[in-house]
Amino acid sequence: MKKFALAGNPNSGKTTLFNSLTGSTAHVGNWPGVTVDKREGVYKKLSEPIAIVDLPGIYSLSPYTPEEVISRNYILDEKPDCVINIVDATNLERNLYLTTQLMEIDVPVIIALNMIDEVEKAGDKIDAAKLESNIGLPVVKISALKNKGIEELMRRAFECSSKPRKGETVLEGGSLTHLIGDCKIALEGAGVDNALFHAIKLAEMDELEVKAHPQAAKTVEEFKKTFKDETFGSDFEAIVADSRYKYISKNYSSALTRNKKSAREKLTRSDKADKVLTHKIWGIPIFLVILFAVFHLTFSENFLYLGAALPEGWVSGEGTAFEGVFGDGGINSIGVILFNLLDLATSSISSAIGDAMAAGGVAEWATGLVVDGMFGGLFAVLSFLPQILLLFLFFSILEDSGYMARVAFILDRIFRRFGLSGRAFMPMIMGFGCSVPAMVNTRTLADENERVATIRVIPFFSCGAKLPILTAIAGGVVQITGLGNADLITYGMYVLGIATAICAVLIMRSTTMRGEVPPFIMELPAYRMPQLKSLTMLLWDKLKHFVKKAFTIILASTIVIWFVSHFSFNWKFLTDAEMNESILAGIGMLVRPLFTPVGFGSQLNDWGWVFVVAAVTGLIAKENVIATFGTLAACITAGFTADEALEGIDSVAEMIAATGIGVPALIAFIAFNMLTIPCFAAVATAKAEMPDKKRFNNTLIFWIIVSYLVASMIYLIGEWWWTSFIWAAFWAAAITLIVLNYRGKIDFKAIRSKITVKRRA
Ligand code: GDP
Ligand code: MG
Repeated sequence: MKKFALAGNPNSGKTTLFNSLTGSTAHVGNWPGVTVDKREGVYKKLSEPIAIVDLPGIYSLSPYTPEEVISRNYILDEKPDCVINIVDATNLERNLYLTTQLMEIDVPVIIALNMIDEVEKAGDKIDAAKLESNIGLPVVKISALKNKGIEELMRRAFECSSKPRKGETVLEGGSLTHLIGDCKIALEGAGVDNALFHAIKLAEMDELEVKAHPQAAKTVEEFKKTFKDETFGSDFEAIVADSRYKYISKNYSSALTRNKKSAREKLTRSDKADKVLTHKIWGIPIFLVILFAVFHLTFSENFLYLGAALPEGWVSGEGTAFEGVFGDGGINSIGVILFNLLDLATSSISSAIGDAMAAGGVAEWATGLVVDGMFGGLFAVLSFLPQILLLFLFFSILEDSGYMARVAFILDRIFRRFGLSGRAFMPMIMGFGCSVPAMVNTRTLADENERVATIRVIPFFSCGAKLPILTAIAGGVVQITGLGNADLITYGMYVLGIATAICAVLIMRSTTMRGEVPPFIMELPAYRMPQLKSLTMLLWDKLKHFVKKAFTIILASTIVIWFVSHFSFNWKFLTDAEMNESILAGIGMLVRPLFTPVGFGSQLNDWGWVFVVAAVTGLIAKENVIATFGTLAACITAGFTADEALEGIDSVAEMIAATGIGVPALIAFIAFNMLTIPCFAAVATAKAEMPDKKRFNNTLIFWIIVSYLVASMIYLIGEWWWTSFIWAAFWAAAITLIVLNYRGKIDFKAIRSKITVKRRA
């Protein structure tokens, strides 16, 4: 099958084009650096199927970060049959810089002038035919978003792919022509493919290239000694870049007619918005308010308090099936309304099924398995789906509009103090959705130590799967104490995760993970209207992923949990009330002393093992924590509230109350689950992204230590306030050690070697 690769600057629309060519739903975002790995799909509308490869965005073929290396190596090594160079037509000059480098490779290249809809809207005109004859590569105008010109693009790309093409350079006739010629001959002699391209990169003294061809690099060094350019001295990289830009401005400007007035208007509007949103002082408070609004719309009950404005019971719907769904004295946030509706629906379904099975004379254990084992757990998680999706939707809107890129920009100044660059912001925000893509996205970070530190703290940005833990336990806390506010606890836990991440990064970057913070160079994307199409695609994708996970991993886990909680070690079937004799309870009791320091171990009563079990099943998928609760709660509460079995999330709160756990330990439980080793998928990703095995092992230890430290701090201080003095002393000592080490006052290495010498002796 023929292979076409999509290459272009970040944010030029490659993934949008990829999606419309292959019908896939890859993540599109108004943010440079969304795609950090290559992705394949198939285009089927030509006479033969074509493999399409979406590559991470690159500004040039001299890579700095891991994801840029992926693109360069793909084009050079995999030899696609055609490279479709996506060019953002609203930013022609800068985008063509990459084109002048792609031209140097022996591969057919076609230019797709994307975003032509925006160019036309601004009243500008681009003469594609003229551009084509100027630069000698086929040019097709398209709009990936509006699906225009795409068939023509593919037809012409197909034509191109059947004619081999030799690399050409725009540097012909410049002052380095001889050097490049010599290098090229030397490389060809050594049997190197794409000799012209490599020769030019050598002349630029590109790092990778010098390493790969040390012999030829010597030629360049020699030449350097005798050569002096008037303006650039012997900075060959600058000479090459300058000739590229000269060539571009000579050849593109005659093809472009700008509508002067509209360009100016558009600029000022975006400038005005930037003046406010990226303001030195107000930028961050504005961001915090927006963040708060997002969480508020997702989580809060009675967020719009109407009080006397409405007749009594009008909102709460007293006496109807919808009691409390829409609010109680005020109106619930969208997230809570959807949550309540779904909870109502799932509870009715499971009790209807239970009744039907009982009426049909199905064995009691089978009813238990289906209603409690399967639906109890599944529905407990499922009811959180609307809130997960809503949170995701809000973040996508912020991202698509181009606002998130601005936040990275304003946060850069603060992040720098912690030893991170603003670039690390995007993977962290992605962490609120799912740690897996977030960890992969750290490839945009150039400093390896910064990358490792970021990967380690990503799980602290509570992901969608952890959201049910936060919300359900917060609900439990409110139910137990009878006061407080569940959504405040939820925000509080999010903030706790962020604060832990900041402290951890600060400590790591000043001890084991030191390194330079590279300057932050990111271009701010244009403000864009979020597109309904791409938003629905994203949500649909997320929904599919969730449902798939629910009916595979989570369902399987809950069934296993149900079985091991209803059989004793000698395979006797147990009723709900006898569950304390089960295999699961036995194992839970055995390991629970390990969790005593964090508040949900041996100090709880007989039912307390459910916390340990839930935390452990969370290692498979974090949704399992609440699914396990759901399954067990349905049984446990059925055991002691004989009159009426509770359904859904209410039963979880009831079960929590039955274990005799206190509020500090409950909060510690949330913190523990949020900060400890993440799910299998995230662990595997961290491992793949950290080639150094020792670093990965240390990462696992890091997660365990952080979760224990923070959770036990919460538990102990909450339970016995005076332990805060002990904690303060502990942290003071730790910080002193770090500072002393940083200043070089104590040499840990020397101490450690002394200790080992003593031990040997
Ligand atoms: P990539 O980084 O090159 O993969 O770019 P994306 O495909 O993620 O798109 C970047 C942004 O440009 C998104 O906000 C898209 O909605 C937007 N975009 C892509 N193609 C077009 C287009 O043809 N017209 C317009 N107006 N916007 C587009
Ligand atoms: Mg992309």
